[in-house]
Amino acid sequence: MPVVPTPVGDSAVRSALVGGTPVRTTPFPSWPPVSDAMTRAVAEVAEAGVWSAADGPVKTRFEREFAEYHGARHGLAVCNGTISLEIALKSLGIGSRDEVIVPGYTFLATATAVLGVNALPIFVDIDPEFGCLDPAALEAAITPRTRAVIPVHLAGHPADLDRITSIAVKHGLAVIEDAAHAHGASWRGQRVGSFGDFGSWSFQASKNMTSGEGGILVTSDDALADKAWSFHHCGRARQGEWYDHGILGGNYRLTEFQSALLLAQLANLDHDLARRERSAAILDEGLGRIDGLAPLARDPRCTTHGYHLYQFRYDPDAFGGLSRARFTEALQAEGIPATPGYAVPLDRQGVFAERRFDLRATGYDPDYPPTRYGTLDLPVTERFCAELVWIPQHVLLGSDDDIADIVTAAEKVKAVAHTLVDAA
Ligand SMILES: *Cc1c(COP(=O)(O)O)cnc(C)c1O
Repeated sequence: MPVVPTPVGDSAVRSALVGGTPVRTTPFPSWPPVSDAMTRAVAEVAEAGVWSAADGPVKTRFEREFAEYHGARHGLAVCNGTISLEIALKSLGIGSRDEVIVPGYTFLATATAVLGVNALPIFVDIDPEFGCLDPAALEAAITPRTRAVIPVHLAGHPADLDRITSIAVKHGLAVIEDAAHAHGASWRGQRVGSFGDFGSWSFQASKNMTSGEGGILVTSDDALADKAWSFHHCGRARQGEWYDHGILGGNYRLTEFQSALLLAQLANLDHDLARRERSAAILDEGLGRIDGLAPLARDPRCTTHGYHLYQFRYDPDAFGGLSRARFTEALQAEGIPATPGYAVPLDRQGVFAERRFDLRATGYDPDYPPTRYGTLDLPVTERFCAELVWIPQHVLLGSDDDIADIVTAAEKVKAVAHTLVDAA
């Protein structure tokens, strides 16, 4: 039977989950982006015949321009944003018997990169306002074996770089900024990635710049840049011979094709950042008016938000007890690709909770309290895992009308929430 469209506000309005007409049937801007400039750039690489090289012309140009854009002297483009973190840690000489502090609310890679160099990830809680590493929790977790901290600029919002860098200086810690969500974000007018010893980004398919897979490190330290270069290029030295491998490195080079795609996107980054900021402002206002939805706050020192994700809190009590899972399903049915975010604090993932890695390689034993993964006390992280809803970055590239549909859909789900609780 054909579904008769019912306008929002009509008493007969039905959720698209139970046969009503969706608010939207047209898709949001697709991702990855494909432009003529990108296909042309890739074709040029194909014809040039240099497809990969440690210092290929396109890779080198991309490294220089990306680093410069982010206020750093050196860039090193690698095959993904997990390896970039590992190379940063190795270049800093971090390994077995060392501790590295990471937030509990982040993607797996922030912590597994630490295990990847045989150091021990120490999970700490996040701040309740912005969701980034809590500086007080960082300071409380420092031991004589702490060597580094990896703040994550979650969803594109910079972590508190003022306090984190000053704590790091005071305790002699290295700072590696995990900016995988924060291409182009800035803190007090300075681009992220340039505050720490290293900044690290991912170009995996979902990220705000993408080459399918890929990553980059930036640093302004010449010696660290040389070490990182060597690790990404089979342990060769910049001035050495091709078959001269002085240290244990690997082949982690980004290809010329990927670099060409990314160079074309870098030219659009300012435009995309502004578009996402504008969309987020519309959502802040529109979703913020709906009782039970609370967009995350923004620190006034966040001068450019990277908006890899648009995040808001969901309170089921204001929706007649409708669970968050059902709420996001209902939004999806209305044509809005909203999702719950990270499901559990990272230490509860099987790899950590069941210790499915070689703890002995880290030089620590299971009696050491920070290794009691799966039972760590991270109450703010836990709340974020339970309450947040995410809207992915490519949606924010839509027009004002596209973004208004998100607010309309949320209002509609609120109006029909009681019918969905019963159906659940
Ligand atoms: C995507 C991501 C990474 C790196 O991921 P890769 O898939 O290896 O490029 C690191 N940290 C965070 C927070 C991420 O979201």
